[in-house]
Parts: sequence; C-alpha cells; structure tokens
Amino acid sequence: MTDYRRLRVALLGAGAVGSQVADLLRKHGDELADRAGAHLELVGIAVRDVDAPREVDLPRELLTTDADPLIIGADIVIELMGGIEPARTHILQAINSGADVVTANKALLATHGPEIFDAADQVGASVYYEAAAAGAIPIIRPLRDSLAGDRVQRIMGIVNGTTNYILDRMDAEGADFDDVLADAQRLGYAEADPTADIEGYDAAQKAAILASLAFHTTVPLEAVHREGITSVDKAMMDAARHAGYVIKLLAVCERLEGESARGRDAISVRVYPALINREHPLASVHGANNAVFVQAEAAGNLMFYGAGAGGVQTASAVLGDVVSAARRHIAGGVGVGESTRANLPIVEIGRVTTRYQITLEVDDQPGVLATVAGILSDGRVSIATVEQTVVHEANGEGGVARLVIGTHKAREQDLSETVDRLAASGVVERVVSVLRVEGD
Ligand code: NAP
Repeated sequence: MTDYRRLRVALLGAGAVGSQVADLLRKHGDELADRAGAHLELVGIAVRDVDAPREVDLPRELLTTDADPLIIGADIVIELMGGIEPARTHILQAINSGADVVTANKALLATHGPEIFDAADQVGASVYYEAAAAGAIPIIRPLRDSLAGDRVQRIMGIVNGTTNYILDRMDAEGADFDDVLADAQRLGYAEADPTADIEGYDAAQKAAILASLAFHTTVPLEAVHREGITSVDKAMMDAARHAGYVIKLLAVCERLEGESARGRDAISVRVYPALINREHPLASVHGANNAVFVQAEAAGNLMFYGAGAGGVQTASAVLGDVVSAARRHIAGGVGVGESTRANLPIVEIGRVTTRYQITLEVDDQPGVLATVAGILSDGRVSIATVEQTVVHEANGEGGVARLVIGTHKAREQDLSETVDRLAASGVVERVVSVLRVEGD
C-alpha cells in the first residue's frame, strides 16, 4: 500500500445511506486512497442506538452515540443523519474545528444553507452536497463547476422518485391515486407518512438547492411555489394522454429575462404537477427514476438521468464528495465557496407565464362556446386549441359538454382570475382541471 497521508473521516449516521458509505469506504479503501491521494481512515460512526440492526455488518467498536469526540479532530465529517437538529449543530461544529463537510441533507441545506456556507467561508472550509438533490445523479457539480461559465436559462427536474412512481403507474395502468399510493407504501417506494413527497415539500427543497446554484442566488425555501400531486386523478390522466401529454411533478427553475423592476433578470422557482409533451425527454422518465433537464445559453439542452434515491446509489454521490474533500484537504488553501453574488430577485407565481390546459364541463347549448371564449379574451388569456366532447346527451334536460382548452402563454394571475370568472359564469357546470403545460 502506498504510504499516503491519513485523513480522519467521521461518519454521522449509519442508516440507508450511511451504512452503505461505511461499507464502501471499508471495502474499497485502497482504491479510494489512490484516487484521493490520502488514506481515508473511518474513525467512528455516530448513531442513535449502537445495537440497532444494520443493513451491513459494521464493526461494533466504530459505533458510538457520542458524535462530539468524533467531530473534533476529524479532517472530513460526513453527515448522513438527516433532519435539522442535531445535524446543523454538528456540521457547524465540524466546520469550526477545521473539517470539510460532506452531507446529503436537502432539508437542512434548503433551510439553513446560507448559515452553513457562511460559516465555511469564514474559515475557508468546503461543504460538498452532491447527494442532496436527485440522489446518485451528478447534478450539483455540473451546475456548480461545469456550467459555471454559461448562463442557465431553465431547469426542469423530476426530482422526487415517489411521486414519479405514482404518476407513472397512474398513466400506464389507468390506476387511481389512492391505490397506487398504497402499493407504493407496501413496496417501500413511499413512506408511511407520504406528505413530504406527495405534497411536493421534498421536491421544493431540491428546487431551492438547484436554483440557488444555477442562478448564483440564495433561494429561500419560502420563495419556492409548491403544489403536490394529491389533486391529480384518473380523469386528468386520461385527458392528458388523450391530448398527447403526460402529467409529471416538475421542479421548474427559470430565468426571466429583464423581468425585474429595473430591467434585470429575475427568477422563478416552482414545483407543481404539469403537462409535458410525450415527445419530451422527461416524459420517458419512468418508475422511481429522477431526471434533470437543463437549458443553458451556450451549452443548449442537457439531461441528467438516473436513480434519485436508494442507499447504495446515494452512497456513490457521497463517496465522490469524500474523494473531492480529501483532495482539497491535501492541496490546502481555502475551500470552494458558494456563488450567490448575482442575487437575482425571485418573482412570485402570479407573474409567471406558461401555457395552460383548462378542462371544463359546460351546458351543451348554442352560444356557450362564445361566452367561454369571451371570458377568456376579457381576461387576456388567448385560446390556442379547443376540443369539445359530449358528456351527457340532452334528454329533455340540459346536456353537458366537456371543453378542453389549450391556451397560449398567459400570466398565472390573469389565468386564475379568469378561471374564477368562468366558474361563476352560469354556463360552466364544473372546472374539471387547470394544468400548466411545460417543456415547449
Ligand atoms: P436513515 O436511514 O433514517 O438513517 C439516519 C441515521 O442517522 C441512522 O443511522 C440514525 O441512527 C442516525 N441518527 C439520526 N438521528 C441521530 C441523532 N440524533 N444522533 C445520532 N445519530 C442519529 O436516513 P437515510 O435515508 O440514510 O438518509 C440520510 C440523509 O441522506 C438524509 O438527509 C436524507 O435526506 C439524505 N438522502 C437519502 C436518500 C435515500 O435514498 N435514503 C437519498 C438522497 C439523500 P440509528 O440507526 O441508531 O437510528
């Protein structure tokens, strides 16, 4: 074995990801040492319960419930506990005692990122977090390094595997949301409490992280518009399929050229279920996979695809960060800071423009289409396509027709006020759905 310098590595957490990181560090120690230029010595693993069953065999003497002594004196601290506390305190402690930090903790970075990055800047330490958005998929480094010389215009990400699994099965099998969710829970794709996934919280955290990097701007979680997938039903799926679309939960991070009050660019960051053309590369992301589609001014369209979660898959991204941290530690000098100097304003959802598909049930009578078209036009919403089908024939009673209206780009606020007016118009029986159309 080459006589490399030893770097002390402390691991906080040995759950789904941490146990795999510990295993790979021990199994591939020599190879990793050659790549890092340092021997990575795992000095201990902090857990809640040293006797809890683990997915892999770990030497009992490495496990401890006391993280503090591990952190003090470590060169690299890998935080894989999850949650806000004590992860935040441990990371700040690691930075202040001279360690570089590797974390996969999206919840912490999306809420306390600036505090952590500032603390690292103060002492010249680095924080690596490749696994915090889209698991095994390399997307943080491409945004931070590879595209640092370009201008990112737009990111559209399928960044939550659970919701993609549910929507994909609803699309492929015509299944109901509740049935697929129950199945997903049974198969381990969804948590017993699925709120973070199905209500879009997890995707919003990742959107905040990706947008901050892409636009060199601190994006607080509160600035991310968030909608989940619980309102998506079988009828919406069928209508989307019929119109050549599929519904995906998308994290959209967009540069709006010259949109700020002073004519500077602004940005919008939003998570919602949206229609995407079946020809779009994101439409072919099936099951629990993730993908991030990036549009950059010079590079054009790029797509990053793969496993967005999974213990061993995520461990790959974590270990890549550990090797980077080790190389930096050996090279010395100050760490890579976060670039947030662009500080672009973030616009609220009402000012965003997209195309929409509005599905209405209306009275099947002459003149109704003209009334609907008039309300849309008064609301500055321009119609691109209309399809009408009969829902109930008029058998003595009034019949009901379904109108599927595709719009040109409209402002979100205009659109939502117009939909309210349609609902109150007397000719609309029911607003079946209003979905944004993304990706073209
Ligand atoms: P997990 O399975 O719940 O494991 C958490 C680990 O941290 C456990 O070993 C637990 O100890 C330990 N721990 C928790 N609180 C602690 C405390 N107060 N003191 C000491 N130890 C504590 O979590 P995970 O799925 O591996 O996720 C870890 C991180 O990776 C999270 O930030 C998550 O968001 C991120 N991530 C996970 C995935 C994935 O596929 N799982 C993908 C991407 C990112 P015990 O074992 O003793 O309970």
